[in-house]
Amino acid sequence: MITVTENFRKIQDLLTETIREAGRPSGSVQLVAVSKTHPAAAVREAVAAGQRHFGENFVQEGLAKMQEVGGNDLVWHFIGHLQSNKTRAVAEHFRWVHTVDRLKTARRLSEQRPYYAGELNVCIQVNLDEEAGKSGVAPDRVLSLAGSLATLPRLRLRGLMCIPALREGFDAQRDPFRRLRLLAESLAAAGLAIDTLSMGMTADFRAAIYEGSTMVRLGTALFGART
Ligand SMILES: *Cc1c(COP(=O)(O)O)cnc(C)c1O
Repeated sequence: MITVTENFRKIQDLLTETIREAGRPSGSVQLVAVSKTHPAAAVREAVAAGQRHFGENFVQEGLAKMQEVGGNDLVWHFIGHLQSNKTRAVAEHFRWVHTVDRLKTARRLSEQRPYYAGELNVCIQVNLDEEAGKSGVAPDRVLSLAGSLATLPRLRLRGLMCIPALREGFDAQRDPFRRLRLLAESLAAAGLAIDTLSMGMTADFRAAIYEGSTMVRLGTALFGART
C-alpha cells in the first residue's frame, strides 16, 4: 500500500523539479493539501511529513477535522462553495478563503471576522470558461469586485483562483492558467496589491506552475482517490 507519507515525498520532489524547469524561484509555490473526505488520521500523517497548509470544501467537515487534529501552526484554507449562512464559521476558523465570488458574501466575512484573528486572506474565484452553473465571477467583472473587496476592513485580497474545465495535453492546460495570470496582472496594473494565483490541481498542477501559480491545491495526488 502507498502511504500518505510516500505520496508527500514524491509530490514534494515533483514540485521542486517543476518549479526549477519552469524557471521559477524555489519556494515560490505553496502546496495546499486538500483533505476533504479524508479522515483526521490522514491529515496527521501529512503533518508528520512536514505539511502545514490544508484545504477543505465543507464547513462542518473542516471544523470537525481542525478540532480532531489540533495544532495552532496549521493553516486552513476554505476552498468550497461558500453559502451565505455559513460565512460566520468560515470567518472564525479559517485563515484563507479561495472562493469569494460575490460582494455580499465578502461583506459578511469581513463583518464576522473576529478582531483577535487578523485579516482573513481571500481570493476571488473566476469562472474562466464562463461555464453555466459553475461558481466564480465572469472575467470581465473581476476588476470591479476586486476594487470593492479591497475596501473591506477585515479582509485582505490576495489574488485570484480558478478551477478550469478539464483539458487534455499540457499546452491546452496552460491556456486558462495563462488567462488567469493576465487577469491578475491587470489588477496589479490597476493598483491592487495582490500576490496569489491559486491554480492547479492533481490533473494540471504542472501546467499551472508554468503559468505562475503560487498555490497548488492537491488532493488525489497526496491522499489517494476520494470515495
Ligand atoms: C477537490 C478540490 C481540489 C483537489 O482536487 P484533486 O484533483 O483531488 O487534486 C482542489 N481544489 C478544489 C477547489 C477542490 O474542490
